[in-house]
Amino acid sequence: ESRPIIIRHHWDADGVCGGVALEKALVDLVEKYHADPEAKYYLVRRKVSRAPFYELEDVVKDLDEALEDIDRHGDKVPLVVLVDNGSGVEDIPAIRQFLIFGADVITIDHHFPDEEVDRYLLYHVNPYKVGGDSNYTAGILSVEIARMVNPDVDLKLLAGVSVVGDRAEGEVEKYVELTGLTREELQDIALAIEFEGFYLRFRPSSYIMHEILGFGRKDRQKKLVEMLSSYAKEAIEAQVKTAMEGVKVQELPNGVVLAALDVENYAKKFTFPPPGKLTGEVHDRLKQKYERIVTIGYGPDFAVIRSEGIELDIPRLVRELQEEVNAGVEGGGHLVVGSIKFIPAKRKEVLARLASKIGSI
Ligand code: MN
Repeated sequence: ESRPIIIRHHWDADGVCGGVALEKALVDLVEKYHADPEAKYYLVRRKVSRAPFYELEDVVKDLDEALEDIDRHGDKVPLVVLVDNGSGVEDIPAIRQFLIFGADVITIDHHFPDEEVDRYLLYHVNPYKVGGDSNYTAGILSVEIARMVNPDVDLKLLAGVSVVGDRAEGEVEKYVELTGLTREELQDIALAIEFEGFYLRFRPSSYIMHEILGFGRKDRQKKLVEMLSSYAKEAIEAQVKTAMEGVKVQELPNGVVLAALDVENYAKKFTFPPPGKLTGEVHDRLKQKYERIVTIGYGPDFAVIRSEGIELDIPRLVRELQEEVNAGVEGGGHLVVGSIKFIPAKRKEVLARLASKIGSI
């Protein structure tokens, strides 16, 4: 129908795999069936979001470009596909801006969905809606949808990388087997994507990402992945080494161990790994030692939460904090992995309340 499709996805390995899967399937269709050989450049546009939701900074760019294309080239109003994002209330303000101009928005996500968002979506593909959970990564969902749209593109690797990248478990590990690669090899690809993605910032770079994911020259892919993943590992080790000094570990009344990491002062700014990933790496090391543990990496106005062996409900914690503290608390994520934002002046109070809530679960 020559309607442009904007694919907006989260910038981590899962998000990139999901976005690239749809991009590859759609571009192949355009190349085969569209009269204009240039059409693939304007009909399929993959873009990355730095935030874990469709933020206003993203939507104004997409909307402005779409309106210009409508005016200058007679393009149609686009279809927007949100991948690994798009299932929370925090996505609604951006989605509504596009709806005013007649766009349709589809969400393909595996974060715990908020029902409110469905009012604004054409479709919402989410495992939680059919009794599944976040182990069915956005990469898997997008690969399966891409295969329905166009079965001619081999996307097996993308599903496997998304599973390892997002640490998904259970039945979905069959996608790892399908790739014919080891978990370590898939992990290296995921690391390479996130390392390059971090420095690309707001650029999606289909060229570099396609090379890493094996759509370019295979011999170069291997070298590229080896090099980038080794950079990433060295960077992680270096940052974890200093970060471990900034961790305070305490046992809460209910026996849960709380590890608080001062990522603002014990990590380099604007350097890979970013605070969320660094907190995850520190958490992975600490959970070898403690069975029930929550790790909080905090900065001046944010906190990243990772947990193990405890039933956290982060969206609920966020709602409670919003009611109890006047600190502009926002956030969300998965049930057990997430992040919150707040105003810097109330950091102490927000973190103290968060700790006491975790201590009484
Ligand atoms: Mn994901």
